[in-house]
Amino acid sequence: MASFAKVPVIDVHSSNIEELYNSIILAVRSASFVAIDLELSGIGDKRRVNTKDIAERYEAISEGAKTRSVVSLGISCFCRLPSFSKSEEESALRFAIQTFNLFLLCKNNHIIESSSVKFLVQHGFDFNTQYKYGLLYSPGDDTNEDIETDQKSFRNILNEILRCKVPIVFHNALIDIVFLYQSFLCELPKNFSTFIADLDLAFKGGLYDTKYLAAFIDRMQATYLEYCFRKCQSENVKNCDNLKSHVIPTFPAYPSSMSSISFLHCELPRKPVNDTHCVCKRYASFGWCLDAENCKYSHDIDEILAVDFKFDKVRKRKLQENESVDDDRYQPKSTKARSSGHRAGFDSYMTGFVFGFLLSRHGTSWRENPKSKKVEDMGLLEAKNQIYLVGKDFGLQVKKSNFAKVSEACRKKCKRLYGECE
Ligand SMILES: [Zn+2]
Repeated sequence: MASFAKVPVIDVHSSNIEELYNSIILAVRSASFVAIDLELSGIGDKRRVNTKDIAERYEAISEGAKTRSVVSLGISCFCRLPSFSKSEEESALRFAIQTFNLFLLCKNNHIIESSSVKFLVQHGFDFNTQYKYGLLYSPGDDTNEDIETDQKSFRNILNEILRCKVPIVFHNALIDIVFLYQSFLCELPKNFSTFIADLDLAFKGGLYDTKYLAAFIDRMQATYLEYCFRKCQSENVKNCDNLKSHVIPTFPAYPSSMSSISFLHCELPRKPVNDTHCVCKRYASFGWCLDAENCKYSHDIDEILAVDFKFDKVRKRKLQENESVDDDRYQPKSTKARSSGHRAGFDSYMTGFVFGFLLSRHGTSWRENPKSKKVEDMGLLEAKNQIYLVGKDFGLQVKKSNFAKVSEACRKKCKRLYGECE
């Protein structure tokens, strides 16, 4: 079955982490890749975050990461399964998928931007749950407590992801990776080139960015997450019908008594979608619109896909230069795929699904390695460690340069993670 109408997401907070922790660790250990999405209390100076100079961008984002916090985090674990039949082996990648939505609460005082809160509340984010049951975390370097006690924390889940060298997939990775690093790994280095060297050393499984894949490998018309996901979701079903490469997502049969589970409904439209409506050009291009509440044009993602919106390249570039605010973060979500309150979890699933589908389409070696669970045996090597840069027509390659040094904090951390490898 290439189609799916609903996706199970498990909420994780301080009152159920004890019982869920081991299953999260198991899901991570068996994963071919994990997709991660963060919800933040703010990102800081948006203009500087998207400024032309990349090192300056890094400075602005790391300033944000040191003064803001992560309010929730979605992690979706995709484990490749063996095919059921010879014909399936030729055409499909089968995955078992488990998605978790973690509520987090930073112990340190931090800035909460009103625009971020407003946005999260509008999308059903439950701040009561966050403050009552959020998993407490201390950002920066490991504390003695982190090192000496075996805490059931996201920091330790991330340690496990890194130790197992599981590739991590983001959508529009730069901001999330900087926040992830500062909040759960160690103190961010001052210099951008040091940061890149650190990533290269710490993330041995590699990083992937589905926004980079959408823009430079698949060359999609638009690259915001909702668009990429819906496009891949519908093409996946078509490809399955035509015996072309596709993904077969499977989910665990969770007991119905489980209280922390929610199903996110994202069924594709059954009837042909009305393509005579005027779609909002801005929304169709970027996934957001200045006048979201009053805009008279359609923001419906299925209508946008149905009209096969033709994007005007010049106009697109202009828009990007003028307002390249993080175009994926502060935008309303589809009315179709409502993620009410579980946005991080659902976004991580969407990201993982896009990655899985593009792996089936552009990966050149998964048919030859039907038993392998490793992404590198499936393909897309050309996209490994390539990160999307808003407003640029090239990616950022995560690779240590000969002149850059790894930071002391990261070296220490990696020694704890990997032993004496460096
Ligand atoms: Zn609009």
